[in-house]
Amino acid sequence: MELRQDVRPACGRLAPSPTGGLHLGHARSFLIAWLASRRDGGTVVMRIEDLDSSRARPEAAAAALVDLKWLGLDWDEGPDVGGPRGPYVQSRRSAIYDEALARLKAADLVYPCTCTRADVERAASAPHAEDEGPTYPGVCAGRSASDALALGDRPFGWRFRVPKRLVEWDDLVLGPRVLDPSRSGGDFLVGRNGRGVSYQLAVTVDDALMGVARVVRGDDLVASTPRQILLYRALGWTPPRFGHVPLAIGPDGRRLAKRDDSIKLATLRERGVDPRRLIGELARSLGLARARVASSPVDWIDAFDLAKLPRQPWTAPRF
Ligand code: GLU
Repeated sequence: MELRQDVRPACGRLAPSPTGGLHLGHARSFLIAWLASRRDGGTVVMRIEDLDSSRARPEAAAAALVDLKWLGLDWDEGPDVGGPRGPYVQSRRSAIYDEALARLKAADLVYPCTCTRADVERAASAPHAEDEGPTYPGVCAGRSASDALALGDRPFGWRFRVPKRLVEWDDLVLGPRVLDPSRSGGDFLVGRNGRGVSYQLAVTVDDALMGVARVVRGDDLVASTPRQILLYRALGWTPPRFGHVPLAIGPDGRRLAKRDDSIKLATLRERGVDPRRLIGELARSLGLARARVASSPVDWIDAFDLAKLPRQPWTAPRF
């Protein structure tokens, strides 16, 4: 199978993980990602990131689409509308991911790691700021890809060897960034033997093959960006532009969490909240209007400017 990068100008994506209802913070990040593409006439791809089989729920995937449509967002390709670069659901793309992993093995850029199983399992979900683990101490780093044969039945994961070098990118929101992934996180997991790949590899492969030129997402994924840039390079692809949106916090000053029902889009919808009021509040929070004007996402396309996005966290109001 050939894995060819597709590059489409200004193409963006919405990539919800169906692990619980979307909340106001997601609504704001997705609105920004959508406006950032639409502003420049780009295509928007919808992709369901359900690789974490212990947490993903099929009904949550359908609910995410309903929530985002309710807000007035749309997409040109996705699980419900189809498109030439599908499937748009990660659990149905395993043959593609296996091929990417095979390429990394063939180039000896990954090695088999027999460290704890829990560590390996965790790799399926996107590591948000609070669950960044300690730096991998390199216990299995002396192995090469071909040493996997000698491991027999022992379970293991595939770890990507991170070069000791700084990784730089010019963030669409935060400006120039430099991180050293060999010091924060170190060699990271890209797959589990015979049981699929990790978030880092899947998201890289999907964005590359789906032609995504702009990855706009929450800033709790900043630490993942240098890892993904390394994977792009390892697979012979050009990294997209990345933009990280400051996080949303609740009135209690804590990061919005999926467990809090009061800020869930489904709850607001069921309570009869007008989505146009919500979009008006989000537009105000993006500096697009002084007052809350009942509106739809399309109303803000012309005024939107990613470079002018406020860089401080956003405190979600009550609706
Ligand atoms: N599906 C991931 C999440 O909801 C987002 C991954 C990404 O935007 O790269 O956490």
